[in-house]
Parts: sequence; C-alpha cells; structure tokens
Amino acid sequence: MSDPSESDVRPWAQPLSRLYADEGIADVADRIDNLLSNYRRAIDQSNQKALSESDVLLITYGDTLIDGETPPLQVLHRFHGDYLNGIFDLVRNLPFHPDSSDDGSAVIDYYTVREDLGDWNDIAAVVREYANLPVEVDNDSRAALLGKEAYGVLSSLTSGTENALMVALGTGIGVAARLNGERVRGAHQTGGLLSCHITIDINGPMCICRNRGCAEALVSGYALVKVTSERAWYAKSSLAGEERPNFRMLTDAVRKGDRYARQGLDEFCDAWTALLVSLIHAFGPAHVVISGGFTRSADLFLPGVLDAVRDRLWGPESTLDVHIAKEPELSEVRGGNLPIRRAMNEQS
Ligand SMILES: [Zn+2]
Repeated sequence: MSDPSESDVRPWAQPLSRLYADEGIADVADRIDNLLSNYRRAIDQSNQKALSESDVLLITYGDTLIDGETPPLQVLHRFHGDYLNGIFDLVRNLPFHPDSSDDGSAVIDYYTVREDLGDWNDIAAVVREYANLPVEVDNDSRAALLGKEAYGVLSSLTSGTENALMVALGTGIGVAARLNGERVRGAHQTGGLLSCHITIDINGPMCICRNRGCAEALVSGYALVKVTSERAWYAKSSLAGEERPNFRMLTDAVRKGDRYARQGLDEFCDAWTALLVSLIHAFGPAHVVISGGFTRSADLFLPGVLDAVRDRLWGPESTLDVHIAKEPELSEVRGGNLPIRRAMNEQS
C-alpha cells in the first residue's frame, strides 16, 4: 500500500504519517478535518482573545507538585493561588489519561482524569476560581440533546418534548433520553448513555464495554472499519482491498451503484433498526431525533430504517415523531454552551 499521505494535500496528513506510519492516517485526518470545520463554525470570531508574544504560558504535568496524600491537582490549585497568580497568563495542566506519550501530552481520552491526580471537581474548582467561569461537566450526548431542546429540532415543537430520545449515528453511537421532562441520568450518571450497548447479536463481537454484540460493537463508525471486511459481501464489492473501509466509502460505493455495498448497508440498517426499536420500547419517547455524521447520507438508509422501525413498534409507540437533526455536528457545542450561559446570566 502506498503512503496515504502522498495523495492527501491536507497539511496535517504527512506529519501524521510520520507519527503513526500508515495505520489509519486517512481516517485520523478525516476526523481532524471534521473537528476543525465543526469548531471553526461554532467559535464566535468577534470575541476572540488571541495569544500574543506578551503572553506567558506555564505547562505543568499533573504530578509536578506533590504534598503528601493531597491530590496533586488540589496542590497545584493552592500553589497557583499562593505563588503564581498574576504571573502567568495561561496555565496548562496535563491531568487526562490514558496518553500515547509524554505523560499526559498526547491524550487518548480527554474525559478521564488520572485517578491519582484528583478528579473533575478539582479541575472545575480551578476553572471557577481563576477563569471566573461557571463549570458544568456532562456527557457529549446529553449536551447534544440539550442543544436540540434549546436551539435545534425540539425547540420549535409545542408538545411531547418532555419525553424525547436522541440517537447519534457516527464514529460512536450516542444516546441521550429525556423522561417526563428530566434528562435520564440514573444512579451512576450513565443512565441512557449506555443504551448504545444494547445487545443486537448475542453471538456478535466483543465490545469495549465488556458486553458482546452491542450496537456500538457492530454498527458504530469505528466498528464498521473492523466488521466490514469480515462480511461476505465485502469481497465482491468495490471496497474489497481497502484496509480500513469506513462508512463514507460504503455510501460512496452505494451511490455509484455497487449492489454488494448496498447489500452491506442493508445489513447495517437491520442493526440500526433493532437498536432503535429497543430504545423506543425502553424509553417511550414522543419524539426521536436522529443525529450524528451518518445522517449526511440519511437519504441512503434512514427512510428504510424508519419504515422498518415503525413496523416493529408496539402499538402506541408507533405514533412517535421522528426528526433528522439539521446541523448534527453543532449540537454538542450548542448544548454544552447553554448551562454555562444560564449560570453566567445568574452571576451578572
Ligand atoms: Zn458495548
């Protein structure tokens, strides 16, 4: 296989291939591309404080400062207040893990704070005090649902929105639910969110969650990269030979009339149908919002999936309304922004 960065004109493609050889570079470059374009649109360009040569930045590891049993993030907080306040314009700390290098620099999971350093409450305390900002910590799927309630498809509806379900089909499958006016959280803050791990195939592949045959393990974006090449239709399709076949390649092939790719997409549709039927039976929503990057190709698969879903729903549930998110990539940003704006309004 040739170096994928050679034909890729994006400026980060070649440095990526130096870092990670040729493993999944195109997919990583696509994801960077998506992140950049999504966040660029979400940033208020008129209200940016740009860095300049007069700014002083301190970068610290999570465990640079130690004081007995006190969590190091709390030690840094105290030390900053005692000695650093007013000296540095920015302090960058590296508390997240796991990382692929340099002790917290190349973070793999930005949601997980290294246990021995402290927790999200310690980070929130620093931000509250020094940035003078309110802090809310929540899951991106719940933020997306909140965004749809406040700004998106649910905001213009006049009834039924107290019971709503959001399913995002993309790299991962995101689920968030609202029951009787409250976002579902459960005893451990995972209620609703883990619904993407509903079992679709009891003989299916192991999932990252330790269950077997979850929707997430079968038909999320990253699962498709793995399971596609194991399917019978794959070898006959135009995707054959692709080391990392993804959803975009599959839909491109379908649009070009590849009937084997169509067969593959139909198989994945069966799993999405099973997932949606189970979720609707579990939560009983009046409105379902389908979101996520895959909806850019909704015309190829969603009408069929929704027809099949309605055929399988228990009587009253089949009357629900289904909506397609118009700007799925902005939901999390908008929803995450909302509680902060509310808190800032209360402050002022
Ligand atoms: Zn799972």
